[in-house]
Amino acid sequence: MPDHRKLGRELGLFGTDPLIGAGLPYWLPDGAIVRHSLEEYVRNLERRAGYQHVHSPVLGKRELYEISGHWSHYRDEMYPPMDVGGEQLVLRPSLCPHHALIYRSRGRSYRELPLRMAEIGGMYRSELSGVLGGLSRVRAIQLNDAHVFCTLDQVEAEAAAALALIRRAYDALGISPARYRLSLPGPGGKYVPGNWAGAVEILRSVLDDLPYDAAEGEAAFYGPKIDVQIADGAGRESTLSTVQVDFHQPARFGLEYVGADGAKHRPVMVHRSIIGSVERAVAQLIEVHGGAFPAWLAPVQLRLLPVSAVEVPYAREVLERCGDVRAEIASEGSLGARIRDGRLVPYQAVIGPAEVAAGQLSVRLRDGRRLDAAGAEEMLARIGAEVRRP
Ligand SMILES: [Zn+2]
Repeated sequence: MPDHRKLGRELGLFGTDPLIGAGLPYWLPDGAIVRHSLEEYVRNLERRAGYQHVHSPVLGKRELYEISGHWSHYRDEMYPPMDVGGEQLVLRPSLCPHHALIYRSRGRSYRELPLRMAEIGGMYRSELSGVLGGLSRVRAIQLNDAHVFCTLDQVEAEAAAALALIRRAYDALGISPARYRLSLPGPGGKYVPGNWAGAVEILRSVLDDLPYDAAEGEAAFYGPKIDVQIADGAGRESTLSTVQVDFHQPARFGLEYVGADGAKHRPVMVHRSIIGSVERAVAQLIEVHGGAFPAWLAPVQLRLLPVSAVEVPYAREVLERCGDVRAEIASEGSLGARIRDGRLVPYQAVIGPAEVAAGQLSVRLRDGRRLDAAGAEEMLARIGAEVRRP
């Protein structure tokens, strides 16, 4: 597997500048296309699975994190508070407290549960600069996050559905888990007291017949989790996706719903992330595919190669009819060199006098295979169907 840092720079996907700082990469136009395509895929997948999307700010008052428990259990990984007008604001270390407050913003009935709230939002981790690199460890994280507020009876089905969604996304993205990990609490005072055994029991039955390892000391401070581990080119493992069961934050924020019995009950929170941080997911995609992304994620999907200046006007005409297919014309340099330059582009069409005369396109694929020549309109429709987001 190639190193995403090297390949990402070569492909013009992202970069860094010491003046912005370590662990704070910026996205170049082609990288932004990959990222947006990925985010749109995830949002669609979530919409179809009954999630509702929200937006919440990346700052919150220190008090918010005192209530959630982050301030006492997670402060080492948070940025220091900022004093603003007599208040202390912090860059959020997670989205959960904001979502808990959105849940609490009005009365809730059991009829609304499970309530699935999703957001791709910013969060911040004060990593030491020595461990930072490329997109896989960053200080400003764009997290694909969601919280399912549900009854105790619904927890297992919701956690199982979240894990199924993760597996489905991995299939679409061509990513394979290195292993599944059941992350349990370890010794020490890092963890809140509560019904850990019950939560672990639920996650064990969700993992059911999947092979997994249990790891002590890897749980969140508020509950156990299923971690989907991936490996990078150097074989280093990291967590991409998670499913967590949390009885703690609903209690801390006093979350309630009115049950069928007319009485107030406490929901459970299932925290889950399908692709984890967008940065780490793209790092993995770059390495797994060696830059040859699935066609729907590719920054450029179709490259038009006029053999000489004579065919350029026809290439321009075709380009205008490309619609949603991301296409470009490459007309500088020898044809062989242009084909090599575009070796990661899913479709390349060499346009010579014969194509112009017949109004056709002849297309070659990344593996060197060729599609039968067809009328430009028909070929663009065919490519359009192939590059559509799954
Ligand atoms: Zn959460």
